[in-house]
Amino acid sequence: MKAEIIGVGTELLLGDVVDTNSAFLAKEMAKLGIDVFYKTQVGDNIFRLKEVINTAQSRSDLIIFTGGLGPTEDDLTKQALCDFLQIPLLENPQEVKRLSEYFQVRNHKMSRNNLRQALIPQGALILKNPIGTASGILLTHSDKHYILLPGPPSEMKHIFLNEVIPWLKKNILRNKEYILSHTLKFIGISESRLEQELLDLFQKQSNPTLALLAKNGEIHCRLTAKVKSREHFSSLIKPIKEEILKRVGKYCYGTDDLTIEEVVGRQLKEKKLTLVTAESCTGGLIAKRLTDIPGSSEFFLGSVVAYSNLVKETLLEVPAEILNKYGAVSEETALAMAQGVRKILQGDLALSITGIAGPQGGTEQKPVGLVYISLVGQNINVCKKYIFSGTRQDIRWRAATNALNLVRRSLDDIESFRS
Ligand code: AMP
Ligand code: MG
Repeated sequence: MKAEIIGVGTELLLGDVVDTNSAFLAKEMAKLGIDVFYKTQVGDNIFRLKEVINTAQSRSDLIIFTGGLGPTEDDLTKQALCDFLQIPLLENPQEVKRLSEYFQVRNHKMSRNNLRQALIPQGALILKNPIGTASGILLTHSDKHYILLPGPPSEMKHIFLNEVIPWLKKNILRNKEYILSHTLKFIGISESRLEQELLDLFQKQSNPTLALLAKNGEIHCRLTAKVKSREHFSSLIKPIKEEILKRVGKYCYGTDDLTIEEVVGRQLKEKKLTLVTAESCTGGLIAKRLTDIPGSSEFFLGSVVAYSNLVKETLLEVPAEILNKYGAVSEETALAMAQGVRKILQGDLALSITGIAGPQGGTEQKPVGLVYISLVGQNINVCKKYIFSGTRQDIRWRAATNALNLVRRSLDDIESFRS
């Protein structure tokens, strides 16, 4: 089974909208073990749409479209497909009823062009969309499957997950082998060092295969295998995962979709500890990432964005002598910031961060990317020096990631901070 994905919409070609739909679909298809060999983007133009359909059906068995199912004149996906296959596009009474009810419930008047969304290619299956006006469409013609999904990402995802996947499982994937992946996520070890540590495992890999991927200051190690079932996958990767963790486990903070902030949140909750932060170069990014987690008030109390020396001195009580003698970006300042914020915000643990995110402001002694991160609590008083590379945004993100990782490692190491 060969599949391809077609993003429809002139906004995609103009770069106004990033084609996140096809990235989502590609990931989902990989999870299902269906090979995606091509991705195309095409504008809202009937001739070029038909050209793209012609190419797609000549080389793929399953073609997924997103976009162009709206009510306006430039929404042409259904029309192009029906023209190309020479089948009629008919008003579907159930769809007319559904649309009128949709507008009635919301107290909106349905305009005439909304009826365009009730047009369904003859013989097609309607894929329900309870959260929007455009239903998805699934049409099988000359052994090729065409799946049409609306452009708005939430609607596209809803239909794919609730309608398309069950259909694929029932009709395409019976007895098929799956390609499944499991990702181990590392912070604090470089890609080259990780590869070195795991070299023999890389060399003898076949099923599962291993791949390293650098992502936002983290290194991800992906284990991928072709299997008949999830159970088979788990047993296949178990020994190799155990071997990896035996060698470099202390750098691994979690797996798959888990984030470092979630791991830290869990640890703090488990140990019944609270965290406060004082951030200079990250400008509140750590606080933002922690408070992205629902329920984070249980373990995160608050933060001081101490960007200027004045705030460091007046609010966090960093002594002027320290700032003058060692500078704002120094171990001494980082420690004093953590101690200061712990005192005023009363957290069990205080994390501070000060550094040079660039692009200006670096010197030979203190280059762009130099960051000090400090963690202070009843039984801990540490400060670590880092040098990160990349753009201003990269440096800020990596600094926040490593600060969170410092909390994780410290909480792992020390059994109880309270005693
Ligand atoms: P449409 O179904 O063409 O009316 O799409 C409606 C909206 O969905 C567009 O204005 C975009 O904001 C969004 N959209 C369309 N295609 C994509 C895509 N491939 N990726 C992400 N968003 C999209
Ligand atoms: Mg469109």
